[in-house]
Amino acid sequence: MAWGDIKLISWGSLSLRVTLNSIGDAVIATDIDGRVTFMNPIAERMTGWRFKDAYNEKIENVMPLQDALSKQTLRNPIYIALREQRVVAMALNSELYNQNGVNYTVEDSAAPIRSEIGEVIGAIIVFHDVSETMAMAIKMSHLANHDQLTDLPNRILLQDRLTVACASAKTNRLKASVILIDIDHLKYLNDSLGHQFGDDLICQMARRLSALLSPSHTLSRLGGDEFVILMADLVTIEPSSLMAKKLIDAMHEPFVLDNQRYNVSVSIGISIFPDDAQSPEELMRHADVAMYRAKQEGRNRLRFFSSELEKALLQRHEQELLLRDSLQRNQLIVHYQPKFDMTNQRMIGAEALVRLEDKLGNLISPALFIPLAEESNLILELGKQVMFSACLMTRQLLDAGFSVPISVNVAAAQFASSELEQHIKHAIATNDLPPEMLELEITETALMLDASLTQTKLEQLKSIGVNISIDDFGTGYSSLAYLQKFKVDIMKIDMSFVRDMMSNKHDFEIVKTIVSLGQSMHLKLVAEGVETPEQRDALQKLGCHVGQGYLYSKPLSEKDFVSFVHQHMPQN
Ligand code: C2E
Ligand code: CA
Ligand code: CA
Repeated sequence: MAWGDIKLISWGSLSLRVTLNSIGDAVIATDIDGRVTFMNPIAERMTGWRFKDAYNEKIENVMPLQDALSKQTLRNPIYIALREQRVVAMALNSELYNQNGVNYTVEDSAAPIRSEIGEVIGAIIVFHDVSETMAMAIKMSHLANHDQLTDLPNRILLQDRLTVACASAKTNRLKASVILIDIDHLKYLNDSLGHQFGDDLICQMARRLSALLSPSHTLSRLGGDEFVILMADLVTIEPSSLMAKKLIDAMHEPFVLDNQRYNVSVSIGISIFPDDAQSPEELMRHADVAMYRAKQEGRNRLRFFSSELEKALLQRHEQELLLRDSLQRNQLIVHYQPKFDMTNQRMIGAEALVRLEDKLGNLISPALFIPLAEESNLILELGKQVMFSACLMTRQLLDAGFSVPISVNVAAAQFASSELEQHIKHAIATNDLPPEMLELEITETALMLDASLTQTKLEQLKSIGVNISIDDFGTGYSSLAYLQKFKVDIMKIDMSFVRDMMSNKHDFEIVKTIVSLGQSMHLKLVAEGVETPEQRDALQKLGCHVGQGYLYSKPLSEKDFVSFVHQHMPQN
């Protein structure tokens, strides 16, 4: 493998790790002190170290090098790459003497790893065996680890990969999934057509399944009519359900045996680590249980070990499709909830709250699909569309003679995005709005994620002229020192404290403290979830004068909101 310096966006990057795991050379990476941060399976085999044991060990312990002739210890090229900040080739005749007493003549090179800004954050060494030993060993191990009929990894190799996958899932807080595939009625086919055709079918099946996989997955044949797909290092479980569906679809095309077409179906069982199982053995067993359930229910189908998981996954998947579709057609629904001045019962503004409509016309709560939008990276587009709708509404009301400032919720990812500024400017300019008519509600938690970045970001947004409020105040862990530096205008007291403030002394005290904190910072205070006249009066007495909640109005559809405004606001 030849290369220049490596630049890494993020060394933890999954795809990079996956690639390095599947290349044919041994790869070890270290930090700037030469301590191991990564090694791929081939490096594990050549050094005799398991990654989990080698992690944080000095490179010279994990990969001791000596001159093949003199047997003198050689300095590991990693150190030279680190010191001189360049790519270095290994000395000729280097020999790696490994834990198990096997020596390999190795060659190749080391290179510094640089961060995005060019600073050296570690080094990486790539090497391979040039001796006969390795070639022989590989051949032997290939024979021992692969199925003779299909040449796929066999049960032994699968077991090994499962162990690695579960360990990696544990350390990296990821998931691994086992998909067990069983050909329906293979026995019948074997008995009626003969074993040779059965074998032919198995080979065709192996090719068809392989075609669906990416190199980071393992397809293994357990023997008989059973195959297993192992998917490691998953962030969510969705890829495995998608894969299972692809598998079922791939069976629609008949198989041709002896010039005849045969329809073949499979039953599939899926189990997830660590959700369904705590060990590689349990993971396999539970995939088996799920597969049997699929068989019992009539074959040609897939089952998850956990039925709740299955339901949740399908539902999520449908909601994501629905959300994508609504975004594509610009069909999100936005409701508006009025805000009132509690001293004179006048409406003074509103908050935009998004809704998703399902195929039956039911509205889905944002509490369900906002997290989904965040995970699937749809939140930026969602926020952009809601902001635009809200500005459009404000413009329509202005044209009808009503001045109704509108607030929109800004998710953490949106706040962090460099595009937010552009989206705001676009929405304001297109609708020709005075910027102070738009308010951004940013949660306390989002603001506190990276306090110093928040400060610059807020200054940027403030310079556009929009108002900024801290949403759900009281639920995060704000550092007061930072809070005071933030350029915000409004503080929204979280509904959870308002709800029980009349019956729970502790909550009442929290509301009281938040109000005095807000006052000391010269912020406007807004209470969320005001439902009763008692809450309204108490809040007012404490010094919070703006309220939003069912006492005044629930969030309203566009049409109802427009008539609400006509009833409750003075016309210019
Ligand atoms: P939030 O910002 O705290 O919004 C207030 C939520 O409280 C709304 O729920 C509203 O319907 C509800 N609510 C208002 N008054 C009362 C009351 O008197 N009693 C009770 N029990 N509830 C009341 P909703 O519309 O379901 O929104 C839930 C959350 O979803 C919002 O909480 C907000 O965090 C998020 N969200 C809504 N729209 C958007 C959006 O466009 N973008 C983003 N990023 N998040 C949004
Ligand atoms: Ca809000
Ligand atoms: Ca809230």
